[in-house]
Amino acid sequence: MTGPHWYPAYIGLGSNLQGPARQLEDAFALLHEISQTRLLRYSSLYRSAPFGGIEQPDFVNAVAALLTQLSAQELLRELQRIETARGRERGAVRWGPRLLDLDLLVYSSQTIDEAELTVPHPGIAERNFVLLPLGEIAPDLDIPGLGRVSNLDVNLNEPAISKLVN
Ligand code: AMP
Repeated sequence: MTGPHWYPAYIGLGSNLQGPARQLEDAFALLHEISQTRLLRYSSLYRSAPFGGIEQPDFVNAVAALLTQLSAQELLRELQRIETARGRERGAVRWGPRLLDLDLLVYSSQTIDEAELTVPHPGIAERNFVLLPLGEIAPDLDIPGLGRVSNLDVNLNEPAISKLVN
C-alpha cells in the first residue's frame, strides 16, 4: 500500500526577546500544529552570546526534528507564517526584531538552491548554537555536503554556548 510520503526535516529555533525560553517552548507546540506535520523530538535549550557587535540580550536556541508531508517550500512558508504571527502578537515595532527565528536546516536528503530557500541551511557548520542541539537529537544525521553531524567540529572561535537549565 502506498500513501503520502513523510519527509524528515530539522528546524533551527532562536529568540532573544521577551522570555526567549518561553518563546521556544511555544514554538515547539506551533510546529506540531503545522498541517501534515508532526514534531518528533526537540533538543534542550541552549544559551548563546550574540555576536556581530550589536548590544542585545543573549539568545536561546534549539533544534526540532519534524516529519512532514509538505514540500520544503511549503514548510518554509509555514515557518514564516509562525514567525510573523508570533512577532505581530507581541511586537509593537513594525519590522522590529523578531521574537522568533525559524530556519529550515535540513529537508530529507535534498539540496535546494533557490532565491528564497537554501537547503541545507548554509549556517549549520559555522554555528555552535545549531551544531550542539542538532548533535544532541540527531548525531547520525547525514547532511548533504557536510556529512554526519557527529563528525562536524565545534567552532572554537565562537562565543560561549551552554545548556539552559529550566
Ligand atoms: P532571516 O531573516 O535570517 O531568518 O532570513 C529570512 C530569509 O532567508 C527569507 O527571505 C528566506 O526566504 C531566506 N531563506 C533561505 N534559505 C532559508 C532556510 N533554509 N530557512 C529559512 N529561511 C531561508
